[in-house]
Amino acid sequence: MRQNRTVDTLVVGAGFSGLGAAIRLTQEGFDDLVVLERGSDVGGTWRDNTYPGAACDVPSHLYSYSFALNPGWSRAFSPQGEIYDYIRSVAHESGVLDKIRFGVEVTAVEFDAERERWTVETDADTYDARVVVLGVGALCEPKLPEIDGIDEFSGQVFHTARWDHRTVLAGKRVAVIGTGASAIQVVPSIAGQVEHLDVYQRTAPWILPRIDRTYSETERAAYRKIPCLQRAVRALQYASREFQVVGLTRSRAALTPIRLIGRAHLAMQVRDRRLREAVTPTFEIGCKRILLSNTWYPTLSRDNVDLVTSPIERVTADGIVTADGVDHPADVLVVATGFHVTDSPFFERVRDAAGRTLADKWATDGMEAYKGTTVSGYPNLFVLVGPATGLGHSSMIYMIESQLNYLASAMETMRERGLQTVDVREAVQGAYNAALRADTNETVWTSGCASWYLDAKGNAPAVWPDFTFAYRGQTREFDLSAYRRTAAADAVATVSTDDPDTPEVDVVPAAAAAEKSGQVNQQ
Ligand code: NAP
Repeated sequence: MRQNRTVDTLVVGAGFSGLGAAIRLTQEGFDDLVVLERGSDVGGTWRDNTYPGAACDVPSHLYSYSFALNPGWSRAFSPQGEIYDYIRSVAHESGVLDKIRFGVEVTAVEFDAERERWTVETDADTYDARVVVLGVGALCEPKLPEIDGIDEFSGQVFHTARWDHRTVLAGKRVAVIGTGASAIQVVPSIAGQVEHLDVYQRTAPWILPRIDRTYSETERAAYRKIPCLQRAVRALQYASREFQVVGLTRSRAALTPIRLIGRAHLAMQVRDRRLREAVTPTFEIGCKRILLSNTWYPTLSRDNVDLVTSPIERVTADGIVTADGVDHPADVLVVATGFHVTDSPFFERVRDAAGRTLADKWATDGMEAYKGTTVSGYPNLFVLVGPATGLGHSSMIYMIESQLNYLASAMETMRERGLQTVDVREAVQGAYNAALRADTNETVWTSGCASWYLDAKGNAPAVWPDFTFAYRGQTREFDLSAYRRTAAADAVATVSTDDPDTPEVDVVPAAAAAEKSGQVNQQ
């Protein structure tokens, strides 16, 4: 039977961001908290992306929580299974598993202005929460290609993030659509099993060598015994990745060395002139995410693999017809076509007090938040991996932990000052984003290629256009003066009337509080 439940803080999602929020808030004493997770386990993208060859292209020591380093990584770039095991063990050891309700899908999140609380509808119960933290991820809603006839294909069709492990590929003719980060891992992993593989490339990506290796038992023992050694390696990995930011956001000249490495890698691995022409990128390196692989080009040179560059015209029951009129028979169709990032369907489920969805707001105004985390008109809502927090060059966990600092500081500020809600001022959010847009327009991401960094208008609202330590600095402490706020009903006496940070009188106390006490202070 459906129940109405009340909780202080509700977290949606148990991937790296949602789980991190649950751990951090519990540590800070905000333990009246529930996490709703639609899947049957923690892990988010690392639970869902089980396609052959799935692995991270951020170094293992850097791609982990700072509070839970793992000396046992088996290699420089961790495979999916190892990251999934890691996040499960962190969830287990942190003691927050009993706060997570698995198999619960959030269907609507709506702010009730009267009660100044969020109503969260799910396919099970209804929740009433003061604070909502969205940890739904950015790269989680598969984007299926809109290709004529795709529904009529008679074989199996699946997205890389929903890999169908029951489908046997041995002896089959397989088509892979896309040449992004997922495709370049899948294709070399399955090429040896299939009878024939057609790879449909719309845009040739930039590929750099993947400098991967296994870690010896001695190295792992050293990391176990001397934790500061692992921290030092992590710091070096972090610093070397931050160097890329100069080229990506400030000076194209700084991209020259990696462009040359990319060209040399291609020239060394592809001898055939026609193939080399077909896989030579025609956009600036870094505009799309730079990919790492030692096996992509050699796989395209295999006898049983064809690179198809003529555009897909339609899918038939038996295969794919391209614009040059060629019919390519296929038994299995793998779509490696990426994710809904700037147009995630989850944004349609989040409504402000007037019923306006985040999707609607962002479709009109562009996807924007304040410090990537809070959105004006949506009080006490914290969006993890929100607008302008995405990265192509380094670890998203670093960005997530920056946001967790901000979230924890906001919660602490509200607790100390007896606040019911905080809602970022529209003008502050507007000014913040105007500055971000000016920065982003100077970056390589808006230099003329298509990518998930961009929205329909060609802006790049998904990515952070600066050094990640600059974001860490911005989010270190909650800046209450950027927010309108209301007093909590039961904390009237603690709301300061002479707060030096907040000269403006714009706090609208909770109606209920005013009625109850008759003496709610306005700052
Ligand atoms: P993606 O980078 O967005 O690539 C999608 C690919 O599909 C592109 O090659 C795109 O071509 C192609 N495509 C899309 N629609 C198409 C259509 N209708 N017809 C033909 N081709 C079409 O997606 P992804 O590879 O899944 O990667 C997404 C992100 O996930 C990555 O950037 C990365 O952040 C993350 N990821 C990371 C790893 C890793 O750490 N190793 C692995 C996988 C994913 P165009 O280029 O022409 O648009």
